Amino acid sequence: MKVYADNAATTRMRASALAAYAEAAENYYGNPSSLHSDGQEAKSLLEECREQIATLLGAKPKEILFTSGGSEADNQAILSAAHLGKLKGKTKIVSTAIEHHAVLHTLSKLKREGFDVVLLPVGTDGIVKLSDLERALDDNTCLVSVMFANNEIGTIQPVEEIGKLCRERKILFHTDAVQAVGHTEVNVEKIGCDYLALSAHKFGGPKGVGALYTRQGAPLYPLIEGGAQERGKRAGTEDLPAIKAMAVAMNEAVETLPETQKKLTYLRNKLIAGLEKVPHCALNGDRDRRLPGNVSFCFEGIEGESLLLLLDDKGISASSGSACTSGSLDPSHVLLAIGRVHDVAHGSLRLTLGPDNTEEEIDYMIQEVPKVVGYLRNMSPVWRDLQQGKRQYIL
Ligand SMILES: *Cc1c(COP(=O)(O)O)cnc(C)c1O
Repeated sequence: MKVYADNAATTRMRASALAAYAEAAENYYGNPSSLHSDGQEAKSLLEECREQIATLLGAKPKEILFTSGGSEADNQAILSAAHLGKLKGKTKIVSTAIEHHAVLHTLSKLKREGFDVVLLPVGTDGIVKLSDLERALDDNTCLVSVMFANNEIGTIQPVEEIGKLCRERKILFHTDAVQAVGHTEVNVEKIGCDYLALSAHKFGGPKGVGALYTRQGAPLYPLIEGGAQERGKRAGTEDLPAIKAMAVAMNEAVETLPETQKKLTYLRNKLIAGLEKVPHCALNGDRDRRLPGNVSFCFEGIEGESLLLLLDDKGISASSGSACTSGSLDPSHVLLAIGRVHDVAHGSLRLTLGPDNTEEEIDYMIQEVPKVVGYLRNMSPVWRDLQQGKRQYIL
């Protein structure tokens, strides 16, 4: 059996999005900045897409900027708020220890430039505490950046409460909603955010395209200089087929959200219950306040990387922590932040489900994952020490 269970890394394109991509590439090849009718037809399709995406988010069309994806949107939001902050003499930024690297590395850059960057801890449930956030905010704070849903452990942050705190204190609030859009309800008015990042390839759209919502009046500075596209905030000829495919994928994801959520929550809970039967393992992140398709575990006494390779042999595409973390020797910063010690964090497995996954696939994973874990443990010197009492179990 072949099972794709790495939907947090990227998704297969929806058939509707693929068709829309081809159709736009074939028929709307004009440059939206050109004055002839080919250009103007492309321009009006571009603006239709902007309107559709804005409506799906509860935003106004002019608040939507098309980008090359989630990373660019995160960078632009944070750097824009920081730039204005600096002009006003406010140089503190509050974020969390579990953000995506697109946020964390942008913040490291600002820290080197003199910003005071505070990364709030999260509890063992993988959720940031409002009291910690409230305590961190002061008159020097120019930005709060807290992700909507975590890409590794799927935990959902209290973004509406955070939005309210920020509004009361007139502090800009950015949320990286890349894992949330198309997977749970996302509305910028409800959240009360000033910026929101999304990426098409996480909800069945193409890779290399995304969007940044910027509340009207919030600062926005270009990262890429050049032509006057995107109201001068993002130079470069727009990738109209990708943008059209993103709009179609997002529309379909939002329209089918209730049924997908119901299906995935059922499959997720079944998978969690099945894997929990393995001794000395633990679910990562809160059991309920998590994305419908996210299953993340740590198995004591094994290496996540070996687990992935053996699962791949069984036809199962999974992940251990984030794609950016694999290949490096450091365990995932997210797992460390929820209190997993190094050894345990190394034995992590992330299975992320999408609308195409079936119950047969879940049953197959419930059958195969414990077998592979058992096989690896039998060969593991760490496991032998645990079994012989030379080491204490942590999980
Ligand atoms: C995937 C992801 C990103 C990066 O998006 P790209 O479109 O791949 O640049 C940012 N944040 C989170 C939470 C993600 O999951």
